[in-house]
Amino acid sequence: MGKRFEPAVAASGRWVDEDGVRAPGGSVHAWRPGTNQTLCGIPLHKAGLERFPHVLWIDARWLADTTAERIVLCHRCSAAAGDRPGRRRWTRDRPRP
Ligand SMILES: [Zn+2]
Repeated sequence: MGKRFEPAVAASGRWVDEDGVRAPGGSVHAWRPGTNQTLCGIPLHKAGLERFPHVLWIDARWLADTTAERIVLCHRCSAAAGDRPGRRRWTRDRPRP
């Protein structure tokens, strides 16, 4: 694993964004695809957390700031994911039409 490893997320809820893509809601944790627990050590199945392999943790952070949906980022996962004060630039893969 490189230094710039970006985890995906697992969450207690879901909603659908304007593009019809499943998005994480409720309690949102960082999750490494291929594992059965969050970065802060919660077992996904036991906690009823849904996997979102297409949503990166950094994207969930952006969503939490920009959407009206209730998204609560786990700060233990934030620490585990190596988040630092100050924002990283976030860009969309697809430009808006
Ligand atoms: Zn967590």
